[in-house]
Amino acid sequence: MTDTELTFTDNFGSLLVIMPSVVNKLLSYRQIDSLNNESAGVLIGERRESHIVVHEISEPGEGDIRRRCFVDRRGPQHQAAVDEAFARSSGTLQYLGEWHTHPEDQPTPSAMDLGTWRRNLAAQDPMVLLIIGRKDIWAAKKIIERIVPLFRV
Ligand SMILES: [Zn+2]
Repeated sequence: MTDTELTFTDNFGSLLVIMPSVVNKLLSYRQIDSLNNESAGVLIGERRESHIVVHEISEPGEGDIRRRCFVDRRGPQHQAAVDEAFARSSGTLQYLGEWHTHPEDQPTPSAMDLGTWRRNLAAQDPMVLLIIGRKDIWAAKKIIERIVPLFRV
């Protein structure tokens, strides 16, 4: 368990801050054991000028399709979590992007990941992409059509 947030930056100093409670949840889904399937969910939080703070996530549940090297988050709980947080916070907490796990130490996006994000993650604001590996977390922002990797601070 950690009580510190995880911070990433782009080349222009725009930060991505992941709150400790979220870090702990994400790490709990790491595919450490060879039987663990991939997990996925959405990222929920706030935008502060050019910075992004992730406060909550949705987690795997019924309706999701989960395999060792594949996940499709089809369960209704993901959209429900976004709607509930948005209403509770009067719109401050919003859908910010996607997370999923990979069964590799240093995760990198698969061709399927890149294709899915290009097709399905259309937004004017930068959207956050996280892949939770066994030893590291890969983070990026999708800015219009470009996927821009972020660096740990
Ligand atoms: Zn993937």
